[in-house]
Amino acid sequence: MTKLVRLLIVAFVVFSCEKTTKKTIPQELPIASEIIAKEPDKPEMTRIWEPKPARVIPGNGIIQPSDAIILFDGSNLDEWMSKNDGSAAKWELNKDGSMTIVPGTGDIQTKKEFGSVQLHIEWKSPSEIQGEGQDRGNSGVYLQKRYEIQILDNNDNETYVNGQAGAIYKQSIPLVNAAVATGEWNTYDIIFHAPEFDTSGNKAVSGTFTVLHNGILIQDHVEIKGSTEDIGWPKNIAHGNAAIVLQDHGSEVSYRNIWLRNL
Ligand code: MG
Repeated sequence: MTKLVRLLIVAFVVFSCEKTTKKTIPQELPIASEIIAKEPDKPEMTRIWEPKPARVIPGNGIIQPSDAIILFDGSNLDEWMSKNDGSAAKWELNKDGSMTIVPGTGDIQTKKEFGSVQLHIEWKSPSEIQGEGQDRGNSGVYLQKRYEIQILDNNDNETYVNGQAGAIYKQSIPLVNAAVATGEWNTYDIIFHAPEFDTSGNKAVSGTFTVLHNGILIQDHVEIKGSTEDIGWPKNIAHGNAAIVLQDHGSEVSYRNIWLRNL
């Protein structure tokens, strides 16, 4: 009997110790992928340390951010080609680091193809005013060859508002007109999220545009309804990554300092 009692006491002590040891294992700190069921009651429980965002050295208007893909820095048109036939881009390279549309030579497009991007582009309407409405300083930047943010000289120049500068052409009117004077440089900072298509070719997720014009928000996370058509409704034909296109609409619009970051 004594032996049995001793055995039971030993077993009880071992069992208790094990329970105590388990209790003292510290609770792991949360990581980004974990959802905490119970509301955290200590500040360190909601501090996330990994993964660290990559270090990017910001640009300053002349130098681009350290992780930017440079599409035009004024030295050449090597990143561009004619949209019509893939031949060399025929727009004029200027001594001041810009390029100007040579009307009639056609749209140009990047040789590289892109998905979702943050795009910076600077543009200038011709100082000498020619034409009116859609024929004054018209160009445009197309993401994925299909989705146009309008470029137009809108100063004292009436046109339909869903076709004015900063419009997602015929889909979304800009929140404000933030253009500078005719002949001065404008900036567009465009955050484009590409649409996604399922295996049957149907659009599963719409693309979106957020646009800052000269630092002013003019398109605020706007859903893209489809390709920006001049005639008819937007189209949603499945596609993947595609080039960025700059439009030749017959006006001598200039461009400079074009870069993007893949998102
Ligand atoms: Mg246009």
